[in-house]
Amino acid sequence: MQAMVLNELRTPLKLTELPEPLPGPNEVRVKVGACGVCRTDLHVVDGDLPGPKLPIIPGHEIVGCVDALGAGVRELEIGQRVGVSWLGHTDGTCSYCLAGQENLCDRPLFTGFTRDGGYAGAVIADARYSFPLGEAGDDVALAPLLCAGLIGWRSLVMAGDGNRLGIYGFGAAAHIIAQVARWQGRTVFAFTRPLDLAAQAFARKLGVDWAGGSDERPPEPLDAAIIYATVGDLIPLALKAVRKGGRVVCAGIHMSDIPRFPYELLWEERQVISVANLTRRDGLDFLGLAPQIGLVTKTTSYPLIRANEALADLRAGRFEGAAVLVP
Ligand SMILES: [Zn+2]
Ligand SMILES: [Zn+2]
Repeated sequence: MQAMVLNELRTPLKLTELPEPLPGPNEVRVKVGACGVCRTDLHVVDGDLPGPKLPIIPGHEIVGCVDALGAGVRELEIGQRVGVSWLGHTDGTCSYCLAGQENLCDRPLFTGFTRDGGYAGAVIADARYSFPLGEAGDDVALAPLLCAGLIGWRSLVMAGDGNRLGIYGFGAAAHIIAQVARWQGRTVFAFTRPLDLAAQAFARKLGVDWAGGSDERPPEPLDAAIIYATVGDLIPLALKAVRKGGRVVCAGIHMSDIPRFPYELLWEERQVISVANLTRRDGLDFLGLAPQIGLVTKTTSYPLIRANEALADLRAGRFEGAAVLVP
């Protein structure tokens, strides 16, 4: 099979011909139909995250069909369409797993980071972490749901039930979660880079109630804000925008340093929290809900062998929504 492989941090991925991998016990082989390109893939390539497996095949927004079963797999069958996401495996035995917080597992494996991912013709996945996707929707349109959608969903749940929701950074996750929040009946305020009028127009087209620059104050105080951009400077800005008792949720795996800010921004029971990874429950909840919401994902497709170009375009913000690789 063909794969785009990261051999060394901060170097381009290399097109490599590899033997078809074989699934071990409780694993399946998934023939990749589409794999989304997530900002986290840039952090993997850039060496921002500690402990990658090298060489590594990136990619953790995978949609494909099961084409081989390892020993002991009962929950999936050959030909079934599944999605594979960032959380690729947990030990099931640590205190976090036992407490229902498998997203914080002490010995996890992450797809496209510490186990090979979907920038390839096929991928080996833990059967327990492969979500059945059903037949509706095409592979490319579904791919961004597997991370932008899932982690976005977890961050939305963590934001609480407040009506007035701010979203900072209007990329792949935001464009999905804005639709979910509107469907839930919330009022959505989208914050983009100052003067990024194209991103603001994109947000309005998706139905948000207000769009402006991150340096602007919303017309009314927010109940909660989610930060999808990787910019630490947004935390004090978001704290200024939320009401007393409001919550700021940081949804990214990596962020630039948070600047010093006066305690009064946090005072009155405002909260800042981060969201890490996802649980299978999040996956089942969100993927079950997605067809009812009628989510529309905006995607730009690239052939697998142009993965480096897709990453460069993501870095430069050259497309709206999400990039998706097709083998
Ligand atoms: Zn664990
Ligand atoms: Zn991701």
